[in-house]
Amino acid sequence: MDQTRRVKMEGVKNVVLIAHDSRKDDLLEWVKYNREVLKEHRLFATGTTGGIVQAATDLKITRFKSGPLGGDQQVGAKIADGELDVLIFFWDPLEPQPHDPDVKALLRIAVLYNIPTACNRATADFIVASELFHGEYDRLVEDHAAVREAFLRARAARGY
Ligand code: PGA
Repeated sequence: MDQTRRVKMEGVKNVVLIAHDSRKDDLLEWVKYNREVLKEHRLFATGTTGGIVQAATDLKITRFKSGPLGGDQQVGAKIADGELDVLIFFWDPLEPQPHDPDVKALLRIAVLYNIPTACNRATADFIVASELFHGEYDRLVEDHAAVREAFLRARAARGY
């Protein structure tokens, strides 16, 4: 049995923006530079990041809680539910964060659900410059039910 499934990403993507404090200026500059491209998509952000982008641009942003107050976990849950397509996450590579476990969990979920994830500006540039950013795309996601079924079948075949 195939152990992957395809999840359709529409042309209009649900893009979530997150930046740690030391990276917020970089993210804001990137958003302003790419405003024309980003305004074609639906934008989401953690609380403070979203507030800063909203105050400095005319982009409409749906905001979650602030990252350290659970926002990263909310984003992870939305990715697991298939409600977010692209993660732009400028995390701080030089300082530990109070919510480091949440950051790690979010990055794990983004990899598990195979969504495009940019942790630096160059990758974010490559994502928005890709024709896939504007078109439909089927991403492959591991089908955990099928994996579990295969595991149980293999176990039964071994007689326990
Ligand atoms: P913030 O959260 O946008 O509320 O600052 C970002 C984060 O640290 O995850």
